[in-house]
Amino acid sequence: MKLLANDGIDPLGKELLEKAGFTVDTNHIPQDELAVKLQAYDAITVRSATKVRKDLIDACPNLRLIGRGGVGMDNIDVEYAKSKGIAVVNTPAASSQSVAELVFAHLYNGVRFLYDANRKMPVEGDTNFAGLKKAYAKGVELKGKTLGVIGFGRIGQETAKVALGVGMNVIASDFVAIPKALTLTLSGGISVDVPVKQVSTDELIKQADFISLHVPFLDKPVLGTAEFALMKNGVGIVNASRGGTIDELALIEALNNGTVSFAGLDVFDSEPTPRKEILTHPRVSLTPHIGAATNEAQERIGEELANIIIGYFKG
Ligand code: NAD
Repeated sequence: MKLLANDGIDPLGKELLEKAGFTVDTNHIPQDELAVKLQAYDAITVRSATKVRKDLIDACPNLRLIGRGGVGMDNIDVEYAKSKGIAVVNTPAASSQSVAELVFAHLYNGVRFLYDANRKMPVEGDTNFAGLKKAYAKGVELKGKTLGVIGFGRIGQETAKVALGVGMNVIASDFVAIPKALTLTLSGGISVDVPVKQVSTDELIKQADFISLHVPFLDKPVLGTAEFALMKNGVGIVNASRGGTIDELALIEALNNGTVSFAGLDVFDSEPTPRKEILTHPRVSLTPHIGAATNEAQERIGEELANIIIGYFKG
């Protein structure tokens, strides 16, 4: 059984597959050569870089499985692959904690202006730093504030748990009914159940001091001009879900008119190069879609993917 891990796979996942008898090739094949070279493989795993579209699927009739290390399958023609009898699998839970922690990196960054302070620190010998401390003196604490989590699935719930752990209030909106309480597991093996409140997205937007988005991109932005108009003045926004879920032009306007105090964005409309007004905005902090990019998440992704693939072919 030959598998191409075209966007790489964690060493633990590779080892598990090899022990199960798979030949695992981790040499990246460029997109435009895949139609010819993938024909020699039974399975391919990808992250977000490699696209597995209809034409590639048609060119590789021997392909039996497409594995996505991670959650979003936007780079795979899933329904078409399935219609051709090809299994399509992903690792939905493995990265939730890492994405949730990145949300908090953005939140703490925003409330204490770290990204801007870093850029403005005086160099040795510079005497013109009067007012520097004052410029960053109006930080706020997260404890006691209300975090609105839009989309209360795997990552939304992990984000809520971190928020509850630092003493924030959490309100959540989702199309489906959410759990009434979340179980926080603290060090020392202690667990506590903390209630969470479900509200409509409009109500959440009106009440939240900070808003974090954890939804897929469906057909239109979840936050646009109408939603920004309902928000509290000075709200902080984090988006580590998918590009397109925030109307970026409306966000820029809300930043400029003071509605939004800062935005932390891991995802954009035009990845990997954010539009100039976002990139250069003094109150926007950016990361290049690295929500799942921790050693722990990558190891869990590799392990989960390997076990799913082994189960599919040998189970
Ligand atoms: P999930 O399917 O577990 O949860 C998504 C939830 O959002 C669902 O409960 C759904 O009902 C709800 N939802 C959808 N549209 C909504 C809307 N308009 N309003 C309210 N609720 C809505 O998904 P997940 O695993 O938690 O992933 C969430 C998002 O994070 C996805 O877009 C995923 O692609 C993205 N993600 C990003 C990174 C990263 O690196 N930044 C990593 C992993 C996943």
